[in-house]
Amino acid sequence: MSFIASRLIHWHHNHGRHHLPWKRNRDPYAIWLSEIMLQQTQVNTVIPYYTRFMQVFPAIASLAQAPLDDVLALWSGLGYYSRARNLHLAAQKIEQNHHGQFPATRTDIQQLPGIGRSTAAAIAVFAFGQREAILDGNVKRIFARFFGISGYPGEMKIQNHLWEKAEESLPIDHSNDAIETYTQALMDLGATVCTRHTPRCESCPLRSQCVAFQEQLTDQLPTAKPRKALPQKETVFLLLLQQQKLLLQKRATSGIWGALWCPPEIATGVDATDYCQHHLGIQVKQQPIELPALDHQFTHFKLRIHPRLLHVVSDSRITEPESIWINPADALEQGIPAPVRKLLKQNFLSDNQTTRI
Ligand code: SF4
Repeated sequence: MSFIASRLIHWHHNHGRHHLPWKRNRDPYAIWLSEIMLQQTQVNTVIPYYTRFMQVFPAIASLAQAPLDDVLALWSGLGYYSRARNLHLAAQKIEQNHHGQFPATRTDIQQLPGIGRSTAAAIAVFAFGQREAILDGNVKRIFARFFGISGYPGEMKIQNHLWEKAEESLPIDHSNDAIETYTQALMDLGATVCTRHTPRCESCPLRSQCVAFQEQLTDQLPTAKPRKALPQKETVFLLLLQQQKLLLQKRATSGIWGALWCPPEIATGVDATDYCQHHLGIQVKQQPIELPALDHQFTHFKLRIHPRLLHVVSDSRITEPESIWINPADALEQGIPAPVRKLLKQNFLSDNQTTRI
């Protein structure tokens, strides 16, 4: 067995995380859900979302049959909503193409929407005991440090090198849950010991052969992404109020915040009053009130949102489809993106969720 595998399997017995709710069974659906939620999200944030999701959608069939709106509402606040849309779509594909049975090999799992090679491998390992290598962000960090591999891991050449190391390091014998224990140990080591900042090398079972530790390179490996200033974009949200209710519209399925509910959005140069009248069929009472701007960062750009508050005359009729007038407190129960949630809380809700404006 490789040095890494034997050390990690031994280490995991006493030092691994054994309490996580999705570790209690081999249900591929539960494992899949946890793996998707854990992408770009911390364990402590994920646990309540995971628990709620499993209560409402305990199996593939219930998720596949649910309206996308209900799925997005449960995901609301977790971010990266394409994960939820893909989860829903993949559940429908499993129902249609696999008779409701989760596919059992890494290559078949990888064909489902939103599942990359590493996630497919993790499901294949934990649900089906298959000998597959994972390589998520945490694991890339461990291998880059342990083997002393420099170069940005997002580059294809470096990534391929790391995959080779991941394959080479797998335990050869995968009886007695060795592959499951090894894979979980890698994840746990990345989350608790070989962390991005100030890794706890003094507690690490790999220390004696770790290149980064031996050569004092832990703060240089893995190589950081070459820096590029993110472009700044600006937009305007129209907070239209009518009898304490706010107008939300469902966005197109593709693009940012796809299929989520948001206030109407206009470009910064557009006249808000004019837009309401001519595009929404709404008469407003006075000029818009400018509320404090809100900044939000996406992976590829920064967005500054300028909220404009407008009071609507009561007998106006909305002409756009997929629009609702909703109490701001009730809107928090819908599938809304994090910055809209923040806007509502800041501008409409006190701590006991009564409308302020
Ligand atoms: S010795 Fe330090 S850098 Fe090397 S794998 Fe362990 S925690 Fe990471």
